[in-house]
Amino acid sequence: MNLPLSFQAQMESILGADYQAFMDALQTETPTSIRLNPSKKTILSPFLKEEAAMVKWHSNAYYLETRPIFTLDPLFHAGAYYVQEASSMFIAEAVKQTVDLSQPLKVLDLCAAPGGKTTLLASLLNKDCILVANEVIKSRVNILKENLEKWGFPNYIVSNHDPEDLANLEGFFDVVLVDAPCSGEGLFRKDPKAADEWSEASVQMCSARQKRILQAAAFLVAPEGVLLYSTCTYNEFENQNNAKWLTKTLDFEPFKLNIPSEWNIVEKENGYQFFPHKVRGEGFFLSVFRKEKGHREIITGKIRLNRVRKRQVEIVRNWLENPDDFELFVKADETIIAIPQQLQNEYATILRAIEKRSSGIELGTFKGEDFIPSHQFALSTIISPDLPSIELSKEDALRFLKKENINAPSLSGEGGVGLGWLLARYEGLNLGWMKAVGNRVNNYLPKEWRIRMEID
Ligand code: SAM
Repeated sequence: MNLPLSFQAQMESILGADYQAFMDALQTETPTSIRLNPSKKTILSPFLKEEAAMVKWHSNAYYLETRPIFTLDPLFHAGAYYVQEASSMFIAEAVKQTVDLSQPLKVLDLCAAPGGKTTLLASLLNKDCILVANEVIKSRVNILKENLEKWGFPNYIVSNHDPEDLANLEGFFDVVLVDAPCSGEGLFRKDPKAADEWSEASVQMCSARQKRILQAAAFLVAPEGVLLYSTCTYNEFENQNNAKWLTKTLDFEPFKLNIPSEWNIVEKENGYQFFPHKVRGEGFFLSVFRKEKGHREIITGKIRLNRVRKRQVEIVRNWLENPDDFELFVKADETIIAIPQQLQNEYATILRAIEKRSSGIELGTFKGEDFIPSHQFALSTIISPDLPSIELSKEDALRFLKKENINAPSLSGEGGVGLGWLLARYEGLNLGWMKAVGNRVNNYLPKEWRIRMEID
């Protein structure tokens, strides 16, 4: 790895006697870690069965001794876990220590793609919470959507805006996460290319951009709400200086977390720093702030979407596990969506305030009297567990995920599951839809989702 000399000098001045240990750590292999999805419990696939070490600061995450080919594990596609760098999982601990997770929280992940931290946040939230995942770069929104669909948590909206465009939601969110675009110094081991792009000028550019994002984010936090600011870098221009600026110019108090010393996280002024020679993870920085008290506006509204026809509601209710928990609407393109009953006001406010965004869990569309379920619905946790399904072997699950046809004899005929829509399952988790018609079974996996890799 070729590290710029001025980066080396910077790290020497930050670390002093620890500098050599840091440089040595950069020569070792990047740890691979995964975080399990608590709402998609399943038996663990072979590579997880070994006695995996746990991530110290997250109770549901493990290190893998070797990095498997995740694409070849159907559970990865079913959203059973997320492959995530361990240090960044610390955000969950910060949220646990700063907010009451039994409350109906409104949470915003402002720089969300590809969605690692959004799924981390989703796993902390109860069914009365709403999560908005925003990503400014349009080409990154699809991967964010895909990861959230796989995760299955239903109460989310994905939006595609510059942080300043969200200003109509002033004081709306109890928690705002700014996982800021940064100079990436903490990722040089994982991605050596990042080191080639590093320069002192880019650090200054990132710092200024973060300030702009933080300013917009600060505005969106409710009185006494929490603002989390994270980067995967070490320099003070992007980390401590911006954190200090927040407390000086905006109404935020730094929040001190309670951290066991054996976690080896370095406490800095206004933040927490992870170094690869001290923890089993990459470089990471997190600052936590609470907004001062103030007046909180209560926003009410009505969702401006059409209601679904009565006959169609009757049909769709049979596909939901708890139909009374949802209100159904139909979008202009005729897709039927579900919005949690208790969050109608919050959805109304967000849907009015944000222009480019999703609107609710897509359940499907009608073709005449026939309901065509969507892929997102198959992966969500709101689907009825009692719909016709077929448990696939690993080979068949991978063929399904390659969008090939499956010739399982038990699909139709005597003793089979019959004709119509069927959920393709692997180890009890839904992978998508199939439809048995006559003596054929069609594979309804969206083609953008299919595995493109050759499988022997
Ligand atoms: N939170 C993500 C996760 O855990 O998977 C990673 C986010 S990444 C560190 C920073 C994100 O900020 C990128 O997706 C990038 O596209 C977005 N971004 C870039 N410029 C931005 C800007 N000016 N305002 C807001 N977000 C920006």
